[in-house]
Formats: sequence, C-alpha cells, structure tokens
Amino acid sequence: MKPRIYYTKPSITDSEVRYATDAAANGWGERCYEYIGQFEQAFKDHLGIEYAIATSSCTGALHLGLAALDIGPGDEVILADTNWVATVSPIVHLGATPIFVDILPDSWCLDPARVQAAISPRTKAIVATHIYGNLCDMERLLAIGGTCGIPIIEDAAEALGSVYHGKRAGTMGRFGAFSFHGSKTVTTGEGGMFVTRDPDLYERVLTLSNHGRARNQKKQFWPDMTGYKYKMSNIQAAIGCAQMERIESLVERKREILATYREALLSLKGASMNPEPPGTINGAWMPTVVFDEPSGVTREMLQQALGAENVDARVFFWPLSGMDMFEPVPQNHNAWSIPGRAINLPSYHDIDANDIDRVIDVIRRISHGG
Ligand SMILES: *Cc1c(COP(=O)(O)O)cnc(C)c1O
Repeated sequence: MKPRIYYTKPSITDSEVRYATDAAANGWGERCYEYIGQFEQAFKDHLGIEYAIATSSCTGALHLGLAALDIGPGDEVILADTNWVATVSPIVHLGATPIFVDILPDSWCLDPARVQAAISPRTKAIVATHIYGNLCDMERLLAIGGTCGIPIIEDAAEALGSVYHGKRAGTMGRFGAFSFHGSKTVTTGEGGMFVTRDPDLYERVLTLSNHGRARNQKKQFWPDMTGYKYKMSNIQAAIGCAQMERIESLVERKREILATYREALLSLKGASMNPEPPGTINGAWMPTVVFDEPSGVTREMLQQALGAENVDARVFFWPLSGMDMFEPVPQNHNAWSIPGRAINLPSYHDIDANDIDRVIDVIRRISHGG
C-alpha cells in the first residue's frame, strides 16, 4: 500500500512548540491571559478589525454572537443548506428555526435570490458561510440585509485568507466567526474567534463569554446574567500566536496547492473547482472538484478510486436539511445534487508535489472513464 495522503494536517514548527512550552511553563497567575491577548491582537491586525474574542471553537463564537443578537424561540435564521452542522446547531440550541436555502452552482455559497425569497417577518439573521474558502456574494447579501434590517453574519471558519474586494472574509457582516480546529488553515488544536466592528455587540459577547460577568462588575463571583463558557486557553493561544506569525505563508501555500489542482483538473470534461472571481482572493482552504451531471462521474467512483490509492479525500458537505433532525428541503437542488458528483482533495502545508500528482492522476483516470 502506498503511503497515506491525509486531507488536512497542521503545520507545526519550532515556534509553535516553543510558545506552547512557554505558556505551559510560565503562563499562569498574572500571566494567564498573556498569549490570549497577543493572539487576539495579531488576529485583529491581520483582519483590520476593532474587536476580537478568542473562543474554544467557532461553534462557540457563533453561539455567543447569535445569543448576543437575542436570537431565540420564534425567530428564523437563514443559512445555506450546504454547511457544516456547526453552523446550524447554535441556532437550534437557541430555540430559533433554521431556514435552509439553496446554494449557487459555481460558488457553492448562498444564492442571494433564494435568501431574498426566504425572508419573512420572523427572519432575525442571515448566516453567510464562505464554504471551502469561496466567498459569498456579500454585495447582494449586505444589500438585502440593509433593506430588510436583518444582520448578515459571516461564518468564516473556512475563509481565513479569503478577500472580497479588499475586505477580508469575516469583517463585512455584523460579526464574523473563525475556527482553529486542527483541519483549518490556522490551528490551535481546537479554537475559534469572534470578531466585530460593533462596540456594543463586542461588550455583550465579552460578558456572555465570561459566564455572564460584565467586565466592570467589581463583585466577585457575580454574574450579571446567565452566560456561557467558551474561552480559549492560554496554551492554545500560544500556538495561535506562532501560527499568526506565519499566516502569510500558511495561506500562500494553500493557494499554491489549489492552483496546482486547478491547472491539472479544470481541463477535464465537466469539471469545476473553487472559483476566484475578479476582485476576490480565495483562501483555498479546501480544494474541491465538482463534475457536472453529463460527465457521469459520481462521488462513489471518486471515493472508491481515491480510497484504493490510499488518499483521504472527503465528501462534499451533505445538505443539512437531509439530516434526521430536520425536515428535508429537496427543492434546494444544487445543495442536494452537487455532493453526488464532488470530492474534497487533500491540501496541507507540507504536502509534496508527488502526492498532489498522485491525487491528480486518480481524478484524471476517473474522468477519462478508466
Ligand atoms: C470547522 C467549521 C466550523 C466549526 O468550527 P469548530 O471550531 O469546530 O467549532 C463551523 N463552520 C464551518 C463552515 C466550518 O468549516
């Protein structure tokens, strides 16, 4: 059997190990928040945004932000049917109703026309997920949100490094949420970040994230409201600090890998990949190839052939509305049909050219019917 090619893998150098070791040895007492503060600052500098709160996960950041917007029972939140479950579970936990809408066939992100059609008097927020690093049509979504007075929230977990007409993913909506799970472009093992430009929302999330204790509350052990506990540890933040020092090269390498796949695979009949429309930069978290229906190429063919080559390729996200806990929305044609003819391709910092070639050869063979 040929060596396994993993689908993602963190890039950990001496500096990550050194910072984590320092945090473990010295980051206690007075210094217990030092790396957390530095990590938040580095992240704010990178995005060019005013406020950031490090969290234990992106799911936690979304939960805090949605709770701070007072989303609850009776409210509806619109999101793409194509999503990781982490985007919808906080909506459900808050007692609100998720409204799943279809994606566009080329960006695999929210279809703004479907969003417009799904708005009701109960709509309280629209979550725009920049899937696989591809960007949502933020201009249209923000216009819809502006007209209807509905906040746009960015799930930018997969979009570190993605830029929309000069603005970084996660900085355009009412708030943005990022993930530092081990599979993501920047990792802290597990972790997330809440970001916003809104000082009031920042204060509310800060309070909620600290067991409901407002930061001006002088009384000890005195929560001002029922909150949450979604904090990042100083040790995780230390790893994050080292990763942020390398962010340009981490993103650049992801982009190089996507470009290599695109060059080799876009000429295949009926194949498309993560787009990069004019005026945008795709952070290229997850290179994904989608075949059109006439090509006859299916997920099962791709999985079988890549599996035989010991390549850990993952399936395109299933439509959330197809899962047991929700009502199916098969009218979301793209969200329901694309996963049947698509596959995620391995991409990580230290993947070598031979490994990429091995993947490319399998996809070519399938496409040529062999
Ligand atoms: C990874 C991911 C999340 C969840 O991130 P966690 O840090 O694991 O909570 C949320 N949304 C999307 C789109 C993701 O890819």
